[in-house]
Amino acid sequence: MKQIRITETVLRDAHQSLIATRMKTEEMTPILETLDKVGYHSLEMWGGATFDSSLRFLSEDPWERLRMIRKTVKNTKLQMLLRGQNLLGYKHYADDVVSEFVKKAIANGIDIIRIFDALNDVRNLEVALKTTKKEGGHAQAAISYTISPVHNTDLYLKIAKQMEDMGADSICVKDMSGILTPYYAYELISKLKNTVKVPIQLHTHYTSGMASMTYLKAIEAGIDVVDCAISPMALGTSQPPTEPLVATLQGTEYDTGLSLQTLNEIAEHFRPIRDKYLESKQLDPKVLGVDVNALVYQVPGGMLSNLVSQLKMQNAVDKYEEVLKEVPRVREDLGYPPLVTPMSQMVGTQAVFNVVLGERYKMVPKEIKAYVKGEYGKTTVEISEEIRKKIIGDEEVITCRPADLIPPQLENIRNEMKEYLEQEEDVLSYALFPQVAIEYFKYRQAQKYKIDSNYVDKDQNTYPV
Ligand code: MN
Repeated sequence: MKQIRITETVLRDAHQSLIATRMKTEEMTPILETLDKVGYHSLEMWGGATFDSSLRFLSEDPWERLRMIRKTVKNTKLQMLLRGQNLLGYKHYADDVVSEFVKKAIANGIDIIRIFDALNDVRNLEVALKTTKKEGGHAQAAISYTISPVHNTDLYLKIAKQMEDMGADSICVKDMSGILTPYYAYELISKLKNTVKVPIQLHTHYTSGMASMTYLKAIEAGIDVVDCAISPMALGTSQPPTEPLVATLQGTEYDTGLSLQTLNEIAEHFRPIRDKYLESKQLDPKVLGVDVNALVYQVPGGMLSNLVSQLKMQNAVDKYEEVLKEVPRVREDLGYPPLVTPMSQMVGTQAVFNVVLGERYKMVPKEIKAYVKGEYGKTTVEISEEIRKKIIGDEEVITCRPADLIPPQLENIRNEMKEYLEQEEDVLSYALFPQVAIEYFKYRQAQKYKIDSNYVDKDQNTYPV
């Protein structure tokens, strides 16, 4: 008997993948108690793009969301996604910011932190992973899965072993593009199970239409946990739906033990929410179909829509096919980075530049220059001298752990924003998204002012403002 456990992603990746991370806390609140009753392995509900999106688009404090969910979800483990040394931002932060962030995430209620690095450079996971363990959290290290001539089973086994040696409590195979095929999943998971002792979890997306088959083969290969989304927020660029997998495994040695009836209550809550987003066009029915481009170009679903919008801005939508073909070439030039945040954005932008400007690497974004200089970590294969020279000329390349060169930042950051500080966590919001956080802090102050100016005291005097 090998009970398969399920992480429910509806509060994080599902809405990040389908509706650009716009689900509001108030849309989650009414169903939290039911979610807590199901018996999931964990609820993924924080991190990834939710932090940025809460502050930027929803005028919500992500820390407040976390505390609110923790207060209601008393039994189920809360899980977040963290981009290693990039935290939830797009660049490397100093070690003091990374450890403070992890500390506060756990203090506010996170149990499991899934930590990944876009280059699978485990040195970029170390501080987040060790702090998670020190603070009593479960540190899950994630392998960014991709397909390339240099990414093979041996490489993944090597990375997994490094992660286990570093102290990872579990390992996740993170297939952000939904390109892991069922039979290869069987091979990879079987070998991982023979290589490391810690539990293995699989994360994939339905983008190319294979995900549920991939889970079934991974289950037969001995996987411990899989990521699913409740059906109204599943499929397409999101995760495989929870209910069919639960039904598939019922009465077998893999039975999840989850109640389809309780899951149905959850589905009923999210169905009108999905309809609302379909109506407002924030949920594009296109992302719910099967996207074969993901298989052909190994491009994650979110990246395809980004490319289209970048090309629209340049008035060059007719160059879409050409850009799609340029993406794998740029990737090859850059040492085959997995296309996950922030690499997917960086490679995509470079491909657009190369095609639209009619000359390759005529213009290079500063992030790509920094990447070629080694500031994001070690690439899977070395970048050729020709490409390196073209991009950074004779500038020096670093080989140490990138954050070793970043001096402590926390005190300066605190000084910069102290006039807005209402809770220690504000320092971290500002560290990650300075402008967006300031806008939010101002909004927060204005909200208070609004309440104060309407306040009427016992003597019916308007409260002085
Ligand atoms: Mn994902």
